[in-house]
Amino acid sequence: MTHIHQKVTASHLGRDAYLYIRQSTMHQVLENTESTQRQYQLRERALALGWQSEQIRVIDCDQAQSGAFQAGRNGFCELVSEVSMGKVGLVMGLEVSRFARNNADWHRLLEICAFTNTLILDQDGLYDITSFNDRLLLGLKGTMSEAELHILRGRLLQGVLNKARRGELKIPLPAGFEYDELDRVVLSRNSQVRQVFHQFFAAFRRLGSAMAVAKEFRCEGIKVPHYSRTGPKSSQAIWGDLNHSQALRILHNPRYAGAFSFGKTRTRKDPDGRVHHEKLPMKEWTVLIRDAHPGYINWEEYEANGRRLLANAFAYGKDNRKTPPREGPALLQGIVICGICGKRMTVRYHQRRDKLIPDYICQRDKIEQAQAKDCQRIPGADIDKTVADTLVDMVNETNINTTIAVQEELQSRIDQADQIRGQQVERARYEVDLARRRYMQVDPEKRYVAEVLEAEWNEKLRLLEEAQAAYEKARQRDQLLLKEDQKDTLRALSKDFAHMWNATDAQYRNHKRIVRLLVEDVTLIKSDSVTIQIRFKGGTVTTLTLPLPQPACKTWQTSSEIVAQIDTLLDDYTYSRMASILNEQGLRSGKGSLFSSTIIGNICRDYGLKSRFDRLRGKGLLTTKEIAEQLGVSTTTVKIWRRHGLLTGHVYNDKNECLFEAPGVDRPFKCQGRKLSQRQKNIGVTPEHTKEVQYEA
Ligand SMILES: [Zn+2]
Repeated sequence: MTHIHQKVTASHLGRDAYLYIRQSTMHQVLENTESTQRQYQLRERALALGWQSEQIRVIDCDQAQSGAFQAGRNGFCELVSEVSMGKVGLVMGLEVSRFARNNADWHRLLEICAFTNTLILDQDGLYDITSFNDRLLLGLKGTMSEAELHILRGRLLQGVLNKARRGELKIPLPAGFEYDELDRVVLSRNSQVRQVFHQFFAAFRRLGSAMAVAKEFRCEGIKVPHYSRTGPKSSQAIWGDLNHSQALRILHNPRYAGAFSFGKTRTRKDPDGRVHHEKLPMKEWTVLIRDAHPGYINWEEYEANGRRLLANAFAYGKDNRKTPPREGPALLQGIVICGICGKRMTVRYHQRRDKLIPDYICQRDKIEQAQAKDCQRIPGADIDKTVADTLVDMVNETNINTTIAVQEELQSRIDQADQIRGQQVERARYEVDLARRRYMQVDPEKRYVAEVLEAEWNEKLRLLEEAQAAYEKARQRDQLLLKEDQKDTLRALSKDFAHMWNATDAQYRNHKRIVRLLVEDVTLIKSDSVTIQIRFKGGTVTTLTLPLPQPACKTWQTSSEIVAQIDTLLDDYTYSRMASILNEQGLRSGKGSLFSSTIIGNICRDYGLKSRFDRLRGKGLLTTKEIAEQLGVSTTTVKIWRRHGLLTGHVYNDKNECLFEAPGVDRPFKCQGRKLSQRQKNIGVTPEHTKEVQYEA
């Protein structure tokens, strides 16, 4: 003992001694009072070493804080700050290395103790940190302690993991499941619980949104059981309203598909020691065993539900909100979703004659990530038309079939809901009964117990009354829903709908509003064809396929018969005459419009047809100028002579220009004043004609 006393100097005794007490979990605090006792015994030893009892300070505010991290442990920080200010002569603790299991904290405290010449005392002995041997010993103890913690945790975790890999790890089950006598997972043996979960998944199948299911359950007064993980009622099912996050938890939990999973989250600690839980994608889960036990849905449905939820998240995401209907004819503006990346698509218009034609474009990635190409660009005219037709068709066709189907579905759902609500009343009644029996069985001597049980009985009676009232109210409301005349209303509505749609033909805004009333969103995918998926309000989905829109030049192609006919007509008619002939026959151009001389001209050019001018020239016909030279008269005279029928001209264009048949002259001759030449006489020119010439000239 003498060497111990050699370490304690007057300088040490002049400062205070600190006793640091800690237990790492609440469990230890409650159960392990023995080690607390041992920690207080250190105080006795400090007194023996020469400290006065008023010099001994106790720090025990770290009760129930784990030693692995310093953050949040005010007691440890206080100790460090006191030591660093040189106020401390002795630090006491049980297994000193456990002051701070974390190595960094531990070494910092040791260093500060060395600077300030502070002694350390634990159940094994007294250490002077300025001495190399003592410092080495304590450092080793700290390292050992940390290693021990690591090995312990590793061993525990490995055991858990091995069990999990075999799917045998017994972990708390979500509501709807329980362990049987052999620790196998089975569906809840309570039929009411089972029915609620079956109905839950049926409702999601029908509605396609967690929010919608939660709303419906709330509206129909269906309560859902869940377990609280902590607190005194942790093993007891609590029945309550279904909220959105609970619905999401149920849908995301693979247990309901009969799968065992483990390691779905990763725990990460930040430098402050705060713990973060990060959800992992399914392919990174540590263990996933499908068909490990019975479930409420199969695995395919579970995956489909996940995709559905993801699509919903895209559709309602922050930068993906629907935009309000704007001007412009694009019917689906603001509700189109790109089927490739899930982003909302925008509209761009291009002009085609007097009409605006929409294109649906997904270009968000292009904008945000500076990609070279749009994700998708799909011509919208056909899509708009298909969606509009589908809407009108559906509302027309459904007026009888769907109305009746909906009525029947409503009836069956109402029956189901009624049954579940009835069971809720039954359960309340059972609990009243239970409370009553407990009260009856109590020893009359124990008045206090009797009072508590009576209060409980009254409470259960009140709950039963509430359940009964809710049951009656919901029943009455349901019966209102099913009135016969509703069918007629629906029928009338569907007739009105087609009428309304066609009446507002030119009003884009009205059309768009109607679409938004009926359609949640439309997803487009362009591949070999265009796939249109229309998601109606209420969750019904219709998928349509359209052929890829043809390039404009192909869709506008004139049929080959018409081209052949134009080829023939060119021998005898001008463009404008041909146009009226074709139009009279009821023929239309490739774009579906009436023929005009311009269209015919374009067709001739596009198909390389020989022009009427060339055809006539080919037959040896002469231009006005040529014949004027031959006859020795002016071009004006030629025209006048043609009017008088002296020359035969064939009109070759719409400006009424002619090519002339040669008059059969073999040499040119001149007009000699009023005197007519023999040639002129030969073709029937009279003095009257020359008079007119001169008169007109
Ligand atoms: Zn896209």
